[in-house]
Amino acid sequence: MDAALADRLADVDARIIDAARAAGRDPAGITRIVVTKFHPVSLITDLYALGVRDVGENRQQELTAKHREVGALDGLSWHFIGQAQTNKARAVRAASDVVHSVDRTRIADALDAAGDGDGLDVLLQVNLTDDPGRGGVAPAEAEELASHVRSLETLRLRGVMAVAPLDEEPARAFERLRACAEDVRRVAPDATWISAGMTGDFPEAIAMGATHLRIGSAITGPRPPRD
Ligand SMILES: *Cc1c(COP(=O)(O)O)cnc(C)c1O
Repeated sequence: MDAALADRLADVDARIIDAARAAGRDPAGITRIVVTKFHPVSLITDLYALGVRDVGENRQQELTAKHREVGALDGLSWHFIGQAQTNKARAVRAASDVVHSVDRTRIADALDAAGDGDGLDVLLQVNLTDDPGRGGVAPAEAEELASHVRSLETLRLRGVMAVAPLDEEPARAFERLRACAEDVRRVAPDATWISAGMTGDFPEAIAMGATHLRIGSAITGPRPPRD
């Protein structure tokens, strides 16, 4: 195994603890998801050996293939963090423990219809940019979408997720996410998760109250080019 991987993981975890303490938060309330997209499946088993129990993928085909290849690893949770297509909902659901990217009623309905008995944890992805073409529900519409998701029997609405825009201070963008999380909790009081914070902005996300960080390259090293 790449010894540097263990070092980078330990380094990020130390930074998470520092940021949590600085914000007066208990680090135990923060889940660090390692984003393994574009990397070979061996990275997931290496991370598992290092104690990682949460991994994130953003493309359904890659998620499905890796999930199949890795097989059952006790306690490993798979987080789907990419754009979900309605016609791939069944495959996404089959390979995920948590779907972070529910941003419209159609995908929520498709994930619900693909239910097989177990409940699925889902987050509403919120668009923090001014560009309606980006993934995510507009903040003003999040509460309505939350009500809809709540009505679906096989989905458990856990909270909200967002990516900070490139052209804005992450702390400011995350404040909008926090306000949006409050809106959602008005209709779903137990939807307490906030998935935010990547390699470049996870300390700011922790300061805002993020409960789930999605960290890739700071831990994995640079990603191989997309195919
Ligand atoms: C790739 C990705 C991440 C991780 O990005 P890094 O900058 O490598 O930490 C987090 N969230 C989403 C939605 C991603 O697609």
